[in-house]
Amino acid sequence: MKKEKKISKIGIMGGTFDPIHYGHLVAAEGARHHFDLEVVVFVPAARPPHKGARAITDPAHRLNMTVLATGSNPDFEVSDVEIKRMGTSYTIETVSYFHQAWPDSDICFITGADAVLEILTWHRVRELLDLCSFIAATRPGYRLENLAETLKGLPPGYIDRISVMEVPALAISSTDIRDRVRRGMPIKYLLPEEVENYIYEKGLYRK
Ligand code: ATP
Ligand code: MG
Repeated sequence: MKKEKKISKIGIMGGTFDPIHYGHLVAAEGARHHFDLEVVVFVPAARPPHKGARAITDPAHRLNMTVLATGSNPDFEVSDVEIKRMGTSYTIETVSYFHQAWPDSDICFITGADAVLEILTWHRVRELLDLCSFIAATRPGYRLENLAETLKGLPPGYIDRISVMEVPALAISSTDIRDRVRRGMPIKYLLPEEVENYIYEKGLYRK
C-alpha cells in the first residue's frame, strides 16, 4: 500500500501585539490543539491596514514582547517577516511567504471574532482564502452567529474555509491594557509577567 504523505498544518497568528496578552495566547493554543497544528507562528505586523491613525509602538518592542510571551511554549514561534518587510502589512503577502517556505504544509490563519467579521475588507481576500484556511476564535463582545450572512459576498465554497473555534472568553484587549498603564491601573494577570515587566522597564504606554 502506498503510504500517504503526511501534510503538516501550520498556524499563523497575525496581530499588532501592542502589547501581546492572554487573549492572543489562548486563541493560538486553542487552535494548535483543536486543529492539530504542528506549530503556531506569531507574526507582529509592521503597520496593519486597519488600525487608523493611532501611533503604534516601535516594532522592535512589539517583537520583543511577542518573543517573551511565547518563549515557554515549544509549539510557538515568532517571525519578523512583516516587520522586516516594513510598510503596510498585508496578510496575503505574509501567507504567500509561508506558502513558499513550506509548500507541503496546510496553512491556517488564526484570528479573533472581530477580525474575521471584517475579512471581506481584507486585501485580495479570495486569493488569501485559496492559500490558507481561517480559524476564528470567539471573543467577548463579537457575535459569530451571523458570520455566514456577513460572508455571503464570497463565492460558494469559500465560507467552508473558515472555522469558528470556541475559546475561554477573555475580555482582554491591547487597547484596554494601554489605557490601564496610562491611568496607573493594574495589568497583572492580563498578560504574561515577562511582558508586564518589559512594559514598565521600557516605560511603554505612559502617554
Ligand atoms: P487592539 O485593542 O489594539 O486592537 P487587540 O487586543 O485586538 O488589540 P490585536 O493585535 O489587534 O489585539 O489582535 C490580533 C488578533 O488576536 C486578532 O485576530 C484579534 O481578533 C485576536 N484577539 C485579540 N484579543 C483577543 C481575545 N481576547 N480573544 C480572542 N481573540 C483575540
Ligand atoms: Mg484588535
